[in-house]
Amino acid sequence: PTKWVPKHHVAAMAFPFGSHPLALLNLVKKLAMAAPDTQFSFLSTEDSNNFLFSASKATDLPNNIKPCNVSDGVPMNHVFSGRPTERVDLFVKAAPDNFRKGLELAATEIGHISCLITDAFLVFSGAIAEDLSVPWIPVWLPLAHSLSAHIYSDKIRQYCAIGGNDGDTESSSKRKILETIPGLAKISIEDLPLEALNDKQSLFSSMLNLIGNVLPQANALVMSFYDELCPKSLLDDLKSRCPGLLNVGFVTITIPPPPLPLSNTDATGCLSWLDSQKTMSVAYISFGTVANFPHNEIKELAEALQENRIPFLWSLRENLRGILPDGFIERTRLHGKVVPWAPQAQVLAHKSIGVHVTHCGANSVCESIANGIPMICRPVVFADNVTNAKKIEDIWKVGVRVDGGVITKNGVTKSLELIMVHEQGRKIRSKAHALQELLLQAAAPNGHAAQDFKTLVEILSSNQAL
Ligand code: UDP
Repeated sequence: PTKWVPKHHVAAMAFPFGSHPLALLNLVKKLAMAAPDTQFSFLSTEDSNNFLFSASKATDLPNNIKPCNVSDGVPMNHVFSGRPTERVDLFVKAAPDNFRKGLELAATEIGHISCLITDAFLVFSGAIAEDLSVPWIPVWLPLAHSLSAHIYSDKIRQYCAIGGNDGDTESSSKRKILETIPGLAKISIEDLPLEALNDKQSLFSSMLNLIGNVLPQANALVMSFYDELCPKSLLDDLKSRCPGLLNVGFVTITIPPPPLPLSNTDATGCLSWLDSQKTMSVAYISFGTVANFPHNEIKELAEALQENRIPFLWSLRENLRGILPDGFIERTRLHGKVVPWAPQAQVLAHKSIGVHVTHCGANSVCESIANGIPMICRPVVFADNVTNAKKIEDIWKVGVRVDGGVITKNGVTKSLELIMVHEQGRKIRSKAHALQELLLQAAAPNGHAAQDFKTLVEILSSNQAL
């Protein structure tokens, strides 16, 4: 057979931590299917690529995507000090050079690069695109309101200072509402991950603070969101700053979900187990791909599930499994299942799921909303989780923060009862269904997201053919 020759070569650059590479790869998969004559190189670290392209996760991988490894920036023989963002900082420090090397390699193998599509966290990629004379398309993967928190970080810092100066106590100043900031009008300072944004020691934090300055250089800004779900003030403001804003819809899922999940995506048997459970009876529990969840809370949650015989499916990373009380898995065998990885998007679409106990990572929130599943939130004080929890409980009203703020046996039992049994839970579920309905319309073939996705494909296919 004759060798396939791609027309264009698009390089995607991932921020290789948490769910970021997973979400970016999902977008790239959608693009690769929509642009079959384009070759995509996916640049991430070796660990991240091994995880993403491993057989169990890369089931529906189009042929026109090729992983390309870049160094993780950890010097040989480096001794870690234990600082939480150390690994990220080492990556960030070396990332511009390492990505340039990766891009050279990809270009040598496949041909010159016609476009860079990158995680928006990688603020230096605009300069690389400029050197290569190609369009730069950053992708904002957290929820839309979080972008505003980054763009207005100076103004938010001023707000904090005002709170401190006019005699407010520290806690009341933290409750100050950010009313003049688009998208954050109902959110207060305490709902933002300020510690993370203000960590002067951290290169990662400094990089995030540059986002507002560099995004206007982008040829288009892609968001994993919907125009219809954005408050108007936020949408108008973002569009005025980034005229090429494209809200292409949630990238980690397909709406509505495909009718028959591929059986080979269910290596851990979650879907067949759910088939045997009652409708809307199961609590799905996951705390995402990074959150270092407090060990005592894992134990408390386990005790609550065991004592109250709550049907549950728990995606618990292998390194945390040892925290479960001795004999827990055996004792709960008849009503629960613990797996190291679940096909979450498909799990949340399953009729047996009644509630999602979540750390409020952006993708998990989107996947719950898309399936009308109420949430019990235990945000970790990291990244955007806390802001998302505020949005879920007080603005969208499609879930609750766990009773007491942290997981205790009694608190989480109360929250589970509230959602599954009480009248308040019924109201929350009906709000969740209403939001799902809105989303189904937004994600319809004639919605903005479909149009924006098409525009994105056109941009990718319009530049410098190979
Ligand atoms: N995920 C999954 N199976 C699991 C755990 C997580 O498919 O067992 C996926 C989940 O569907 C979501 C992503 O991993 O798309 C987690 O992203 P999120 O933004 O929620 O959290 P993060 O990992 O970034 O904290």
